[in-house]
Amino acid sequence: MEKIRTRYAPSPTGKMHVGNLRSALYEFLIAKHAGGDFMLRIEDTDQERFVEGATEIIYRTLAKTGLVHDEGPDKDGGYGPYVQSERMKTGIYMKYAKELIDKGEAYYCFCDKARLDSLKTEVVDGKTITVYDKHCLGLSKEEVEANLAAGKPFVIRQNIPNEGTTTFHDELYGDITVDNSELDDMILIKSDGFPTYNFANVVDDHTMNITHVVRGNEYLSSSPKYVRLYEAFGWKVPVYIHLPLITDEHHQKLSKRSGHASFEDLIEQGFITEAIVNYVALLGWSPEDNREIFSLQELIEAFDYHRISKSPAVFDIVKLRWMNGEYFKAMDPEKFYEMAEPYLKKSLPGDRWDLKKIAKMVQSRIEVFPDIEGQVDFLRELPEYDVEMYTHKKMKTDAASSLEVLESVLPLLEQQEDYSNDGLYQMLLKVIEEKGCKNGFLMWPIRTAVSGKQMTPGGATELMELLGKDESLRRIRLGIEKLRSALA
Ligand code: GLU
Repeated sequence: MEKIRTRYAPSPTGKMHVGNLRSALYEFLIAKHAGGDFMLRIEDTDQERFVEGATEIIYRTLAKTGLVHDEGPDKDGGYGPYVQSERMKTGIYMKYAKELIDKGEAYYCFCDKARLDSLKTEVVDGKTITVYDKHCLGLSKEEVEANLAAGKPFVIRQNIPNEGTTTFHDELYGDITVDNSELDDMILIKSDGFPTYNFANVVDDHTMNITHVVRGNEYLSSSPKYVRLYEAFGWKVPVYIHLPLITDEHHQKLSKRSGHASFEDLIEQGFITEAIVNYVALLGWSPEDNREIFSLQELIEAFDYHRISKSPAVFDIVKLRWMNGEYFKAMDPEKFYEMAEPYLKKSLPGDRWDLKKIAKMVQSRIEVFPDIEGQVDFLRELPEYDVEMYTHKKMKTDAASSLEVLESVLPLLEQQEDYSNDGLYQMLLKVIEEKGCKNGFLMWPIRTAVSGKQMTPGGATELMELLGKDESLRRIRLGIEKLRSALA
């Protein structure tokens, strides 16, 4: 059986968007599921679109997400160079372009800008393209040679007949047949000597023995042209998997404007790598059962590319948040603390806070790191709160009962030396027993007074332990004042 070889072939043009990450992940999973090789190829032939630093983002993201490539610019596997601008220098693209010319499947074109501008244009996939009229296909061999000898600038174009049809197969979309008259004579080699992506991807996928190509379906309409190239060379066409678009919740193409389109943006928003990878895997793929939580290793085992769906995938940030929260719940507390520390420090500056303890309290209550602020803000400063908050139906508390409770526990809390959670709890438990009341009847007003919030990451005594004696007492006294004036 042939060895499965896949590639992630990004153009270094900016950030690594969720769609790019999904292509890389699926390519990785297809290879690893079958014990094959996953390769990184940098497609930098479009020098105008090259963005400084973009290659570094690619390496960083692959390393961080665990999509370790077996071969690439930094890991020679015998198929190098792995950067197209370097491949170009070996003459590989020109060699194959000339082979096509010899076969009559390509031709030199010397048309200048003025002539091209005078030609008909068409809008294809939102881009305006010139429909080339095959003018230079009519040049004689001598004319071509004279032009070349004179150093006239040229491009090399694919020669696609105006009659007939071309059929190709995509794993998701099935057989697709197009009229050749709809296919333009696309440029294979540009006037600067660089190949176009359209040509280089075919030459490289073949010469690097790539068996499966996963990419966005914006390439679907060009694929018949690629297939014609494979056929002209007599090469085997790889398995094509063109992935459906990822849309936002309004069914618009996921864009930078959606604010969560790139991997590093998501990290900045407080998501963790494992959850992002897990979520992205499910953007268009699903396992046989309804399982949703997968480590990368589990994805490798479960991933069957035949289960990729062709319906558009909706990037649902609410779902991703949920998933991230599940990862927090399952995380080793030490690791959680390490990652949460910068956020905790920002919310609770200074050295009076037991951040480790607080991390434990919030770990299962947040979905992304920035949620920490909303969990702990009341520790930093008692918020303004309404006395209504003391009234709780289930706890059977109201303003009057709360005032009575706070007044009765205040002297006890003043005498109390041990402000540990446990010490405070034991002390208050005794009061509860003496009063013969329900736990919440006493704890609710205390917790309200020390937090000013309905939801807190811990109970009354846990919060008092964190706040310390002075601050706890100050807050209880404030609560008493508040209740007194409300009841007056
Ligand atoms: N360089 C292309 C891109 O980044 C790759 C498309 C492909 O995977 O063939 O979109």
